[in-house]
Amino acid sequence: MTVFEDLESQVRSYCRNWPVVFDTAKGSRLTDVDGNSYLDFFGGAGALNYGHNPDELKPALIDYLTRDGITHGLDMYTVAKGEFLTAFEDIILRPRNLDYKVQFPGPTGANAVEAALKLARKITGNEAMINFTNAFHGMTLGALSVTGNSMKRGGAGIPLVHSTPMPFDNYFEGKFPDFLWFEKVLDDSGSSLNDPAAVIVETVQGEGGLNPARVEWLQGLRELCTRKGILMIVDDVQMGCGRTGPFFSFEAAGIQPDIVTISKSISGYGLPMALVLIKPELDQWGAGEHNGTFRGNNPAFVTATKTLQTWWTDDAFEKQTIRKGEKIEEAFNAIVSETSPTVECFQKGRGMARGIQFQQDGLAEEVAAKAFEQHRLLLETAGPQDQVLKLLPPLTTSDDELDEGLAIIAESVRTVTGS
Ligand SMILES: *Cc1c(COP(=O)(O)O)cnc(C)c1O
Repeated sequence: MTVFEDLESQVRSYCRNWPVVFDTAKGSRLTDVDGNSYLDFFGGAGALNYGHNPDELKPALIDYLTRDGITHGLDMYTVAKGEFLTAFEDIILRPRNLDYKVQFPGPTGANAVEAALKLARKITGNEAMINFTNAFHGMTLGALSVTGNSMKRGGAGIPLVHSTPMPFDNYFEGKFPDFLWFEKVLDDSGSSLNDPAAVIVETVQGEGGLNPARVEWLQGLRELCTRKGILMIVDDVQMGCGRTGPFFSFEAAGIQPDIVTISKSISGYGLPMALVLIKPELDQWGAGEHNGTFRGNNPAFVTATKTLQTWWTDDAFEKQTIRKGEKIEEAFNAIVSETSPTVECFQKGRGMARGIQFQQDGLAEEVAAKAFEQHRLLLETAGPQDQVLKLLPPLTTSDDELDEGLAIIAESVRTVTGS
């Protein structure tokens, strides 16, 4: 471990919670240098929806490398890019009656968000953005300016401007009608709100603590944006690619965002890749106006294409995710009813993005630490005070592995809360 402590920056984070050296990984398990096996309910923070090194994708990647397929290609036309675009159109967009142009930004979620914000500003000529309380959109300056977490914002070192926070769904626990404040300040010429270019929203806030927006709330937001001429950006970097069940997390609400950001699990293999989906009439970029050296990660295009062909040609995968999500929900409800007489907590989330929120600070982190130290289960925490125990297992995690991990969580909660 000393090599990391000696040589790597203090900025390192996840490795502090799991201070072992990992070497190999397969499916929902990692193995460390001493041969210990770990169950992975962290799932690369949502980048490993199909598990580690999936057998369904690996041969396509190896074949591509073996035949010297283009690895780096900026935004050159390549066979791998063409095949991805065709598969994305045929398997994802057309069957859902969605019409989007595909932009390849730099291969991270933050870069997709930066591109989306820039484009919305260019189209509308407005600089103001609307974001939501407890949002997370990435660590670069534009993305941070629409992110809630005060510690992360503090890292910017300069004022983060041109964005106005609005209450996310259930921020006031149902005490006020949806969008009461948002609509009031939009309509009031004395409110001091600048005309917004866009709203940027997650359908389920991942880093913010597994907060799901209700379908009616998302529909209300879509309707409000349309009525007021504000663009709607859905940041599906974490909740897209099937995490909540359907390929896009907004499908459940039957809405069509103007711009969508996708990254994390789009390559299927944990390789860096990102997309910005743009309504055709909004594709007003000039050539090269948003550029980047690593926009053409061709091995990622190869595994992404294979991912769509393997899991997304029918609705079986969506259904299994919803079913497994319900299984997690049931197990979490059992934990909550066992625990809440001693310690207040409740379950939240959607699909296979689930959490248990503890009212008392520090408990979720203790449970995650216990699960790792005593049972070799990887779990992270989320929310502004890390008060939510966060479960993001690969969607391909077997029922047996789910049972195993859920039993570990129940045991760890019991140990920590003494219930
Ligand atoms: C992870 C995440 C991002 C940032 O993606 P990076 O690849 O870490 O830059 C943006 N938005 C959401 C919703 C995310 O979960």
